[in-house]
Amino acid sequence: MRLNGIPTNPLSCSFAIKSCIRFCSLVGGLQIHARITRDGYQSDSLLMTALMGLYSTSEKPIEACRVFDEIPQRDTVAWNVLLSCYIRNKRTRDALCLFDNMNFEVNGCEPDDVTCLLVLQACTHLGALEFGEKVHRYIEEHGYSDAINLSNCLIAMYSRCGSLDKAYGVFKGIRQKNVVSWSAMISGFGMNGYGREAIEAFEEMQRRGVMPDDQTLTGVLSACSHCGLVDKGMTFFDCMSKEFGILPNVHHYGCMVDLLGRAGLLDQAYQLIMSMTVKPDSTIWRTLLGACKVHGHVTLGEQVMEHLIELKAQEAGDYVLLLNIYSSAEKWEKVKELRKFMKEKDIQTTPGCSTIELKGVLHEFVVDDVSHPRKDEIYEMLDEINQQLKIAGYVADITSELHNLCAEEKEHALSYHSEKLAIAFGILVTPPGTTIRVAKNIRTCVDCHNFAKVLSEVYNRQVIIRDRTRFHHFQNGCCSCNDYW
Ligand SMILES: [Zn+2]
Ligand SMILES: [Zn+2]
Repeated sequence: MRLNGIPTNPLSCSFAIKSCIRFCSLVGGLQIHARITRDGYQSDSLLMTALMGLYSTSEKPIEACRVFDEIPQRDTVAWNVLLSCYIRNKRTRDALCLFDNMNFEVNGCEPDDVTCLLVLQACTHLGALEFGEKVHRYIEEHGYSDAINLSNCLIAMYSRCGSLDKAYGVFKGIRQKNVVSWSAMISGFGMNGYGREAIEAFEEMQRRGVMPDDQTLTGVLSACSHCGLVDKGMTFFDCMSKEFGILPNVHHYGCMVDLLGRAGLLDQAYQLIMSMTVKPDSTIWRTLLGACKVHGHVTLGEQVMEHLIELKAQEAGDYVLLLNIYSSAEKWEKVKELRKFMKEKDIQTTPGCSTIELKGVLHEFVVDDVSHPRKDEIYEMLDEINQQLKIAGYVADITSELHNLCAEEKEHALSYHSEKLAIAFGILVTPPGTTIRVAKNIRTCVDCHNFAKVLSEVYNRQVIIRDRTRFHHFQNGCCSCNDYW
């Protein structure tokens, strides 16, 4: 067009931008952006929104934000693009702020059903229950309750936040449940430790003539695995292709490895991986590595680590798992060797971090955190809790598991992992009897798990910890995971 002297306009630019998005061409997009600036099209909100989409998909949230700021008349679509950009680019907490800032009186536009969907996804990711409830109220007040994709998203959000009764409430309210609704509910039951209910829902869905898809099967198998229903899980796995025409994918295999691992059938799990028709991914090997840790299987653990290295997918967390396998088998020479190796290769572990939500605000803690404004009260509370738990028979056990690489931390007898701080904060600021919900980015350690178990009984509180792989519902001194994680 340009070579032939045909003038471009905002519309042609916007189509060109969309092509760049489609072909992931940031360079092409940058050229068009320059032209847009030169030709003075910045006031065209449709075009600018397309440009935001380009930066969002190119993982450039700051640039997307800059374009957003330039738009003179921002409509809801522009806000939604920015929201999805935040979620896409690991700025989920900012997404929540954005929802709060979308105010009709201030900027003339308000959240629509798409906004709600995006914010709910952010809440699900963060485990931000109170915020999710706020969005739920908004959905009801604005007449979006009939949108089935929003209801399905609410089920997932409530389940992932450990609020299963609310998830079920939403599920029951859907008049025409589709396969996504059923799958979300089945997964919700499973991840919260209700295996039998998950299987019942799976059977009920078939009675009602809804055909399961691969997601449903993932939900059912993982429910069997979370709840230790080995035989049931094997049966479903064996018949899924014949009965439902669904070939097992990596996720299904992953559930089976978890299931067998939990039952201590590690060799069988290994055989299953070796027999896979699809190439096993790192997640599957990692699942087996976790099982090796629980059952103290050193040789297989080393073998699994080799597979991970072969895939070039080994993460710092895997080395930590292997360290734990060695240390629980008291193979101190190997521990030393591996530590040295990790130090040489400069393998950095992910620092543990726990969040707890209070009145819609997320409070974040790391190990031995002293950044919280109420840190003195929190540590005082933690001392008091420790005394109470000691009376009930809890013994702090910091040597059984190496949570972190840092040797100093292990030796430092008073070291507090982030979830303990978050729980202490929860006890401090909420009225007696309130459920304490903590989200953690990595696996929780044996000591913190014991701590939470005893605390749930002594303080008569339900404590819910969502870690990287599963949920722990602590109540009356027990955990829903049956001490397998
Ligand atoms: Zn811990
Ligand atoms: Zn647990």
